[in-house]
Amino acid sequence: MICTNCGTQFEDGAFCPNCGTPAAAPAPAPAPAPQAAPQYNYAPQPQAVYSAAPGAATGNPEEEKSCLITGILAAAFSCTFFLSFLGIVFGPMGLSKAKNYLNTYGTYPVKVRIGKYLSIGGLAMGIFMTVYFAIYLIAILAGIASNIR
Ligand SMILES: [Zn+2]
Repeated sequence: MICTNCGTQFEDGAFCPNCGTPAAAPAPAPAPAPQAAPQYNYAPQPQAVYSAAPGAATGNPEEEKSCLITGILAAAFSCTFFLSFLGIVFGPMGLSKAKNYLNTYGTYPVKVRIGKYLSIGGLAMGIFMTVYFAIYLIAILAGIASNIR
């Protein structure tokens, strides 16, 4: 370092060997650059989109299958005579699943679509067959009643 008094250059030490002037305190280390205050970003973070955005979701094969099977059950039961009321049970269920699927994934895959149509058919057929079955029962009961009389 260089003495601040006489200008003698000397090795680092407490005092100048020439004049005895205390060595200048080493320049303080530059203050650390002020830390940037933590930035709190209040800007809304992009949220994962679960709403119906076409192409945003990939869909759910399990739910597609569930919707299709429910539609098949609705249609199949509605065509039976004694269990046609199950078409009225599974039909709205399949329609609800198809609607939920569309709301959730924004898509109408073929399985969901078929499940929906089968559910509509199952519901309509279920109502028709149940009414038919009810009339049939009433007719039988009326026949029994008239025979008894
Ligand atoms: Zn000196």
